[in-house]
Amino acid sequence: MTHIKDNLAAINLQISHACQLANRSIDEVCLLAVSKTKSAELIQQAYESGQRAFGESYIQEAIEKIQQLAHLNDISWHFIGPIQSNKTRLIAENFSWVHSVDREKIIHRLNEQRSNQDTPLNVCLQVNISDETAKSGINVNELVKYATLIEQCDHLTLRGLMAIPKKNDSQESFSKMAELFTELKLRFPSVDTLSMGMSGDLSQAIANQSTMVRIGTAIFGEREIVKE
Ligand SMILES: *Cc1c(COP(=O)(O)O)cnc(C)c1O
Repeated sequence: MTHIKDNLAAINLQISHACQLANRSIDEVCLLAVSKTKSAELIQQAYESGQRAFGESYIQEAIEKIQQLAHLNDISWHFIGPIQSNKTRLIAENFSWVHSVDREKIIHRLNEQRSNQDTPLNVCLQVNISDETAKSGINVNELVKYATLIEQCDHLTLRGLMAIPKKNDSQESFSKMAELFTELKLRFPSVDTLSMGMSGDLSQAIANQSTMVRIGTAIFGEREIVKE
């Protein structure tokens, strides 16, 4: 118990220091606790320490935990992993956010499958900022096209951008994301979210306009490798 509670306190302190250094208000940055591969019990411990937003990457285990924790009805669940098109219904019906949208087909499916819910699904476009062919994410030059598509969907709300910058060209990628985020906000009024920063680079992300840091290891400890 104390373990997760202490880790959360340490991360929140780190976020507040990073905000101070960047001359930003702490209210501008949200902590997303990445609980993939971690049990419902551990998530509940984080919840009892005040954490409310949780990120999951593997749909099957995520759904199990969402059902186990259904009594904690003010949790917001964020899907942050790669999206297979046959899994979009589970995302549309069980999550309030999805950060990893990068295909037109996925946008249309999520919109249609969200239509029987009361609230729109909050969507971030994943940007392939380091231009690694193996990784997911849209190219920078397609950003406006995809943002426009999402804006036209009744059951989706375009909230912003997500990126996983590559380890070594970090600073360039981080500042490029900050630029793209600023441009997108001017063009699309619903945009208010830059999902960027993990356990190893959260201060740098906050210095570069991140509004949501996705932290797993520093809260829940190292993960065992999982097979999909
Ligand atoms: C696993 C994961 C994280 C959390 O990474 P840590 O290094 O454990 O903080 C953040 N974002 C995404 C997309 C992830 O898959």
